[in-house]
Order: sequence, then structure tokens, then C-alpha cells
Amino acid sequence: MKHLLDQIRAFNTERDWDQYHSPKNLAMALMIEAAELAEHFQWDTTEESRCPAPDKRPAIEEEVGDVFIYLLNLADKLEIDVLEAARKKLETNRQKYPVKKVRGKKEKWTEYL
Ligand SMILES: [Mg+2]
Repeated sequence: MKHLLDQIRAFNTERDWDQYHSPKNLAMALMIEAAELAEHFQWDTTEESRCPAPDKRPAIEEEVGDVFIYLLNLADKLEIDVLEAARKKLETNRQKYPVKKVRGKKEKWTEYL
């Protein structure tokens, strides 16, 4: 992860793009890339979306990469450790959604209070 982040920083520095990478701009770019990812599944049925056609996979993988790069850029600018943030949120979610209460159910945590 550290090596990837170093590569992303170098990519940005070489191009003098940090000047455009405010958290606001990066959050917008992240949403746009997430929308590009979603676009690949837009008219698929649920079942079709589970198994994209092999010729669609490279483009989907590219969008996954775009989303991850912008997420790492955003977190880097805000000095957020992405892995630590994810670990913390997973623990929060474990407490919000205890297995005994929610297994097999899809309602939001507020429905289980
Ligand atoms: Mg893209």
C-alpha cells in the first residue's frame, strides 16, 4: 500500500497536478469514477451483473483502479490512513450489525434498535 501511494504521489508531482487536488476536487473525481464504474452495470439484470461478459472486465477493472486511486489521493491529502479507517469502520459496523440480530436481513442499523 505504501509503495502504491508513493507511485501515486510521484505521478501527481511529475505532472504538477497537486495544485488541482483539493479534497473537494478529489471527492468529486471519486464520485465521477464511481459513476463510471456503475455505468458498466446500468442496464444489467442482477444476475448479469454478477458475471460480467469477459470483454467488459478490462474496462470494469480500469474503473475500479480509478476509484481506488482517487480514494487514496483524497485520503492522502487529508492524512487519513485508508486501511486504518476501514478497520475502524468495520469494527463500528460489527457493533451496529450484530450477527445474531441481522444475519440474512438487509435493513439499516436503526431498524434494529
Ligand atoms: Mg474512469
